[in-house]
Amino acid sequence: MLTIGLTGGIGSGKSTVCRLFAEMAIPVIDADIIARQLVQPGQSALQQITEAFGPAVLNEDGSLNRAKLRDIIFSAADKKQQLDNIMHPLVYAQIAAEVAELKAPYCLIAVPLLLESKNPYAVDRVLLIDCPLETQLQRVISRDQLSRQQAQAIIDSQMSRADRLVKADDLIDNTAGPEQLAEQVKRLHNSYILLATARTQSA
Ligand code: ADP
Repeated sequence: MLTIGLTGGIGSGKSTVCRLFAEMAIPVIDADIIARQLVQPGQSALQQITEAFGPAVLNEDGSLNRAKLRDIIFSAADKKQQLDNIMHPLVYAQIAAEVAELKAPYCLIAVPLLLESKNPYAVDRVLLIDCPLETQLQRVISRDQLSRQQAQAIIDSQMSRADRLVKADDLIDNTAGPEQLAEQVKRLHNSYILLATARTQSA
């Protein structure tokens, strides 16, 4: 199965692009959704997180207190590493299990932090959704009802556009409108189908 890792900064258009591929019956696996499922009460990830960071990370009903965990993680770099060491293997195992079940020429794996991760999930190709900073800012401001400063702060906390661009295999330029976006998705879809076919024939 050809795996395409889809990534990009906040507001670049990842969710929109995922929907367009999904409309063409291409399966989309979302690492964020998997991570959220893995920290539900009763899951071993939540137990490991509680053992590592203490019961203060739990709400009274036993669910994960995300704000508390975020505070702990931002307090020291090694805490973030500790959380990644717990979560990444579990998320990756779940992604691999879902990929193994798929019947499709290729699939998308949406991992917003694919390029930031020290030990990323291994994909065949990295597809980056890109747009200029000002476009990204405007889209985040209007989607999330944030001030310009808040949106800018989130963007500044992420990897720079230039650093992302050098690491991508494929690129969607999401500067223009929905029509241009759909056209690029269709073109990429065709090239992924060709790649997937070539791989099965040479296997
Ligand atoms: P991400 O998932 O990367 O955070 P989204 O797909 O949610 O980004 O897109 C951010 C916002 O910009 C959303 O409100 C979306 O509807 C809008 N958007 C995305 N692509 C375009 C486009 N080409 N033209 C206009 N608006 C867009």
